[in-house]
Amino acid sequence: MALIVQKFGGTSVGNPERIKNVARRVAGYRQKGDQVVVVVSAMSGVTDGLIKLAKEIMPLPTEREMDMLLATGEQTTIALTAMALHALDIKAVSLTGPQAGILTDDVHTKAKIQTIAPKQVHALLDSGHVVIVAGFQGQTSAGHITTLGRGGSDLTAIALAAALKADVCQIYTDVDGVYTADPRIVPGARKLEEISYDEMLELASLGAKVMQSRSVEFAKKFGVVFEVRSSLNGNRGTIVKEETMNMEDVVIRGVSLDKNQAKITLVAVPDHPGVAARVFKAIGDAAINVDMIVQNISHGLGTPATDLSFTVDKPDLPKARKVIDNLKADIGYREAIADENIGKLSIVGVGMRSHSGVAAKMFETLAKEKINIEMISTSEIKISVVIELGQGEQAMQAVHQAFLG
Ligand code: ADP
Ligand code: ASP
Ligand code: MG
Repeated sequence: MALIVQKFGGTSVGNPERIKNVARRVAGYRQKGDQVVVVVSAMSGVTDGLIKLAKEIMPLPTEREMDMLLATGEQTTIALTAMALHALDIKAVSLTGPQAGILTDDVHTKAKIQTIAPKQVHALLDSGHVVIVAGFQGQTSAGHITTLGRGGSDLTAIALAAALKADVCQIYTDVDGVYTADPRIVPGARKLEEISYDEMLELASLGAKVMQSRSVEFAKKFGVVFEVRSSLNGNRGTIVKEETMNMEDVVIRGVSLDKNQAKITLVAVPDHPGVAARVFKAIGDAAINVDMIVQNISHGLGTPATDLSFTVDKPDLPKARKVIDNLKADIGYREAIADENIGKLSIVGVGMRSHSGVAAKMFETLAKEKINIEMISTSEIKISVVIELGQGEQAMQAVHQAFLG
């Protein structure tokens, strides 16, 4: 008998037939004697629909009320899933995030889980119930409902698996596992048998939405091994776990494309100490995350000046623009240019640590496709380039072909 946490994403519970399908799978495990905790997302499209509805009422609703609204999506699914299990004569009880003991900080719409007190979950499991928990939600110590950021049901599942010391954690989705690239963009992408936490984390934070990146961070921290697999068939999925020796034999594990970034360039910034500090202090104070930064001193005639470019998440661009405009008089740059028309293409692999020539091969591949590189950043296990958005998918396919084709 094992304790299993199974998470089903939006498409997997997208209509009554799919929910019944989930129930049949869960029932199969239960009938073998396993204890099962099921985490479900809102039915596909529901969260987006709720956001749209809110925006029709007012453009910038308070984040507390957004959480109150968004949490209803998952609440619908837990009840329907419990009913589908009852229809199969399986004992099942649905719980909201708060009822499952998920306590978070009070940063509405992107709350962090602080503790989980799963007393009720344990009690229900012990009395032979399947426990169905609403993903993506928790509550603050003062009792306010919070949500965990888009894709947050992954985090609910991983965190519950850690808190319950589950034997198995399975993330069921609409693809067979983690692929070398998004199979919807790169038809030749291959399913990986396994991937390390660090590689999965990079891919997820660089645009591969198959797993929410914070959930992978959490899994790494607490050593939760999990499998990403399909809810539509019985195929084996991808195991995400600690790096093993032989993983370094593979140079590139995957390619990802992030279409959700925007770039700001400050042209002709005076070249003296403290300028970058002032720019990024102001951006940080506005709670805007900066990803890539490139600064280039111009050695032309006249006073030394630099161009300073950085990227932010697209939705943060208007806020970032305002911060930068407010700094103009103080810093004295010539102009600020905002560009939403960018994509960030990345290759990821722990094998990069022990192989050379990877960057050159990536850049040559892009050059052959006549794709211009606007920015570059690297870490030990990844290389990212900013390119024109319209060329993103072509670039992704070419780079995938060069390294993994
Ligand atoms: P769920 O609703 O189950 O959480 P998501 O839509 O959040 O599912 O994530 C699954 C999707 O992630 C897939 O349909 C696929 O298009 C996309 N995806 C992006 N990159 C990858 C990748 N490297 N491997 C697998 N899927 C990927
Ligand atoms: N329903 C939420 C979302 O769409 C959480 C999730 O699906 O994981 O982001
Ligand atoms: Mg998801």
